[in-house]
Amino acid sequence: MLNRSTFQAMADQQLSLITASNRQSRYWVEQYHRQQSQVAGVWPGADVLPITAWLNRLFFACARNTDAPILLNANQSLSIWQQVLEQSDAADYLISVKATARKVQDAFQILNRWNVALTDVLPNTEDHEAFIRWAKDYQSRLNQMQAIDASQLPEWLTHYFSQLNQESADSEASLKSLLKLFDTELNSQLLLLGFHQMEPGLQQLFKALMQCGLTIREVINSGETKALFDQPSSEKNTRKQTRNPKVMALSCQSFEQELLHACDWSIRRLTANANAKLAIVVPDLEKRRYQVEALLKQQLHPELLSECEPEKTVYNISVGLPLTNFGMVRIALNLLELMAKPVELSKWAEILRSQCFKLEAKDNRFNVSDEFYWRLKQFAFELPAEGEETTSFESMTDRIQYLGSKFLDEQEAQVLAGAFTSMKELIGHANKEQSAEAWSQLFINWLKLWGWPGTSSLTSYQYQLRDQLLSLIKQLRQFNILGEQCHFKQAFSWLRSLLEGAVFQPKSKGEPIQVMGLYEAVGLEFDALWICCLSNEVLPEAANPNPFIPLSLARQHQLPGSGPERELEYANTLIDGLLATSDNVAVSYHKMDQDRELSPSPLILQRLSAHGFLPADIYNKSLSESIEQTELSWQSSTTIESSLWQLVPPEQEYFVDDYGQPYQESQLKSGNQFLTAQALCPMQGYLAHRVGLMEQEVAVNGMDPRTRGVYVHKVMQVIWQRLVKQSTLLGSTDDELKALINRAIIECADDRFSKDDLIAQLEKEKFSLLIFDLLQLEKKRQSFTVTACELEKNIVVNGLSIQSRIDRIDHVDDYGDVIIDYKTGQVNASKWYGDRIAEPQLPLYLMADHQHVSAICFAQLHHKKVSFSGVAKENGILPGVPSIEKAKTEISDWQSFIYYIESELETLTDEIKQGYAAVKPNEKQHACDYCPFDSVCRVAELNAGEFPDDSSTDVGDRGI
Ligand code: SF4
Repeated sequence: MLNRSTFQAMADQQLSLITASNRQSRYWVEQYHRQQSQVAGVWPGADVLPITAWLNRLFFACARNTDAPILLNANQSLSIWQQVLEQSDAADYLISVKATARKVQDAFQILNRWNVALTDVLPNTEDHEAFIRWAKDYQSRLNQMQAIDASQLPEWLTHYFSQLNQESADSEASLKSLLKLFDTELNSQLLLLGFHQMEPGLQQLFKALMQCGLTIREVINSGETKALFDQPSSEKNTRKQTRNPKVMALSCQSFEQELLHACDWSIRRLTANANAKLAIVVPDLEKRRYQVEALLKQQLHPELLSECEPEKTVYNISVGLPLTNFGMVRIALNLLELMAKPVELSKWAEILRSQCFKLEAKDNRFNVSDEFYWRLKQFAFELPAEGEETTSFESMTDRIQYLGSKFLDEQEAQVLAGAFTSMKELIGHANKEQSAEAWSQLFINWLKLWGWPGTSSLTSYQYQLRDQLLSLIKQLRQFNILGEQCHFKQAFSWLRSLLEGAVFQPKSKGEPIQVMGLYEAVGLEFDALWICCLSNEVLPEAANPNPFIPLSLARQHQLPGSGPERELEYANTLIDGLLATSDNVAVSYHKMDQDRELSPSPLILQRLSAHGFLPADIYNKSLSESIEQTELSWQSSTTIESSLWQLVPPEQEYFVDDYGQPYQESQLKSGNQFLTAQALCPMQGYLAHRVGLMEQEVAVNGMDPRTRGVYVHKVMQVIWQRLVKQSTLLGSTDDELKALINRAIIECADDRFSKDDLIAQLEKEKFSLLIFDLLQLEKKRQSFTVTACELEKNIVVNGLSIQSRIDRIDHVDDYGDVIIDYKTGQVNASKWYGDRIAEPQLPLYLMADHQHVSAICFAQLHHKKVSFSGVAKENGILPGVPSIEKAKTEISDWQSFIYYIESELETLTDEIKQGYAAVKPNEKQHACDYCPFDSVCRVAELNAGEFPDDSSTDVGDRGI
């Protein structure tokens, strides 16, 4: 991708390579050294930096020449945001100040990077109003400190270089004086790599530097370079975007199967060429990290299955693990905690059982014998049986010394006493207020006294872990900038937040297989690349706007995550970038994700076809056509227990409280929606309809399902108000019906269906076809008359009055009434039966007049199928709707069905009245998949077993 002359310019110290990511920098430094080793015996280092490091270097170089503000890093900025939020009126209402502070910080940074003024944010909602207030407060704190944060850095630098340029007489003189001023920290040529959607703030900075005379070029996907901001013609762009790789495409049944194929593909390539550089790209790698590692180990390193921290593998996974997942780090935190307060016996037990400390004399010449540590372990195992009390450092060390008096010789006992005395002296300092820097030093000294991390011969893995923790403790000094003397509690909480955000990623040792996320491979080069999971759900990604920035503003400025068009454009660039990384590319997707059917990403197919790589039906090839069979046999895809990596959960106070406030009104607010949510999960019902939590607004591709549903209901109402009887339907020709449908479609379209909106037009065309198909089905029914459309009705169940709107009631001659509910999604009447009713809306309507109703059914208008789905008193009332006797349920007749529905609705309404809010999602209905409240109910923690097993409680009962 970079040619010889570029490497030469780097070796001549004339050119700096600036990359979008750290990984790209690391990779191109390696490539530079590899290339230079072939042409020279000795060679200078290259100036290759990721953009963040380069901006910081530029800033500190400027700061030597001018009065510069203080530059805050991300942690310092976040802690100011936290202070702002904690001291605001909203603090009491925020579920998590820290999480909100991160979101607000993100919104503020996006606005800065995209040059959007805070004054453009209109206070239209409470969230936006609060954001404006917080942002002003944050900015005034920064002004007081004379500081800027990282998102304001490009603007500050732009201003600095523009001024320099204005002061200089001509551009040549300007460049000369600039290079003199910056010495080695600024080269006259910059080469940018991997910047696909450059933020306007950065663009301005580079423009200012170009005006000062710098030459700035960027690497394009073909590996060539072009002057920054030059627009290549679109034809040239398309032709040169990729290197025209060989592409193999594969569809698999499951993600496991995809990854197993990718492993075998890697083995075959490595067998053919041991020096091959391969990459497996897994979108959502962070979420799938454990699963991916388990499968890779199973396939590529079965000999390492029992090792938690394998050191020698042929693969490297780019996503690290949270630092606090590692026992060594957790013990360090426990040790620090007991510095200032008594801790629980279970924590003491964990420390004393671990091998992460070592007590030795001050001069390190003598330490306590191994035998004593074994005694100490025995002692530690018995501690939890003493109960849940807390014990101070003093009383525990007295007990340890008493134990020592039985098993240690005199010299060893002195070592022990000496170590504890030094610790007590240090604890004296921990009671005072002091600066963050002093705390940082105190923490390090304390760990040293404990001999943490214990063993003198650390593996490379442990060594890196130790270094990372110590460096984070040193980073506590950053908080000095807040100018506070603080207590242990504050310093420890800063340290915790530093650790919580940290991931441990062991250094890559040049492993031949690199496993990366979707965005990391771009800008690198491989002998072969496999991209997994390219389904319709992955590319383009769903828009994910920041809730503190008004959507209209985000769209106006094309901010990240603001809308489908931006995501589409980004996805196209991404695919081109990925295809440019290798001459051999395999793409795959899995057809099933649990019980959801997936299809290949239309975008990748279109992109590949556009470049002439493969026919559009490539995914339909069978496995044997796409990949030669190998003698390797697939192993089963069972995953290894990830518990090896998990933390021992901290002891927590625990109580079960499944009930919130009882519901005391007689009218059920949000009627059906409340019932439906309660049926799916009591906690979901309570949060949505009692607490009033609202789903965060998300942009969707095309029309949102609610608008679509309302529209179709209106159209059906208009059609049946005109037809009224089946006989009229039967007497109409197809052309007359089509005309009727089209008239209704036009009549019901409102502002959201503008003529110029392509998606709206497609929706209209789709529904005109689906409605026509439904009317053909209606022709096959018993003779009927539509007696009501969109009928408002108050239904009383168990003393609760529920306001409802029934889509349609038909009277069928000789049978009675049929209640119909239109659905534009896929439906299944079997949801009504089972341990707990789901989708209770139609059954509720049955209760409105069960004497006369002889069938309830959905009319499904979905592109996969137009059909009726429901249940009837007798067979033959509606096509495809069985009698209750024939339905797949144990309910034997219509009357029993009515009793069953009555009792299910009673259960649900009883729960609502009592305020029942257990975290008990209906797993069969995948309740959590579409529920936005998982961060509040913390169901993931529950499923991970992070709450104690209480036999008196059902799994899932945790309450609120
Ligand atoms: S995420 Fe699942 S458990 Fe939590 S409230 Fe929603 S449905 Fe219930």
